[in-house]
Amino acid sequence: MWDNLEIVVEKTDLALLKEKPAQDKLGFGAHFTDHMLRMTWNKEKGWHDAKICPYQDFQLDPAAMVFHYGQAIFEGLKAYKNEDGQVFLFRPQDNLERMNTSALRMCMPRLPVEKVLKGLKALVYLDRDWIPTNKGATLYIRPTMIATEAALGVRPSEEYYFYVIMSPVGAYYAEGFNPTKIFVTDKYVRAVKGGVGNVKTAGNYAASIMAGREAAKAGYTQVLWLDACERRYVEEVGTSNIFFRINDQLITPPLGGSILAGITRDSVMQLVRSWGVEVVERQITIDELLAACEDNTLQEAFGTGTAAVISPVGELCYRDQKYIINNNETGELSARLFEELQAIQGGRSEDPFRWVVRVG
Ligand SMILES: *Cc1c(COP(=O)(O)O)cnc(C)c1O
Repeated sequence: MWDNLEIVVEKTDLALLKEKPAQDKLGFGAHFTDHMLRMTWNKEKGWHDAKICPYQDFQLDPAAMVFHYGQAIFEGLKAYKNEDGQVFLFRPQDNLERMNTSALRMCMPRLPVEKVLKGLKALVYLDRDWIPTNKGATLYIRPTMIATEAALGVRPSEEYYFYVIMSPVGAYYAEGFNPTKIFVTDKYVRAVKGGVGNVKTAGNYAASIMAGREAAKAGYTQVLWLDACERRYVEEVGTSNIFFRINDQLITPPLGGSILAGITRDSVMQLVRSWGVEVVERQITIDELLAACEDNTLQEAFGTGTAAVISPVGELCYRDQKYIINNNETGELSARLFEELQAIQGGRSEDPFRWVVRVG
């Protein structure tokens, strides 16, 4: 693993290794492991100085372009450990390819996918003792790229950092796999076609915080986003993709430029197709959805994303009206997908799609 890495490895002094947090009090993204991966880009040298080093602060010029015009992209994936201590990543190559799609749109440099994947595996292996072993807990991995050139002109930066940090996270559903309450907003929008909704770029999340906060104040977990032009077509839920099961058919909005191409979304589609469930990518209006809820043809609804995997929806609130889905219970397909995806990711189930990559 350490041969041909072309990445310098600077290990943290044993005496300086951090104390690991209690496994039952991890939360999300609150603790970080002992090491990070980092690499620098400039016009002359391209990507260089790749290294795995102790987790540490950056020193950046206050004029660094990321602070002003937001050239910042990221990814989210996880490492899982099975009962035998074997470590796995789930579709890591797809995350890095997607990061390159994001980089292209934001005029940032392409990553060398093979090299980064090797470095990522080495980093996960080095910090493998941080991967939690209790049920549902995982190691969340956050690759990030930022513009670091000190200059105030609005143009692509000529210097960048790429880095990967990792955080042990607790089971998303600490109190059981229960449906969430979702607030449908027609006041705010997340993304427009032609914009950057299909890019994992920092500004999208900054722009979504206010809607999320208003939903939380009203007692809802997440926001359901409608399209920006007509505010009729369902797009995503929070930072997850969304699926509806209506008349035994699974429906998800098509990727039209304003929706993030979720890897969990793609995995769900492939998996349920292999089970003989019909899946269609088509536009669905909020009116059609609520009508299906009222005449009980809407059997279940769930969000998909790396953090929660599957997130069942039990209630929608739209224009002060409440709509209950499936008696506010977790649907049959949601539950099956949650179990099966977790089993594949954790190396406990067969992997017919060859999604899982072994580390070490
Ligand atoms: C990351 C993300 C998703 C989910 O993508 P996964 O690859 O499944 O984790 C969906 N929507 C948005 C807006 C996201 O940022």
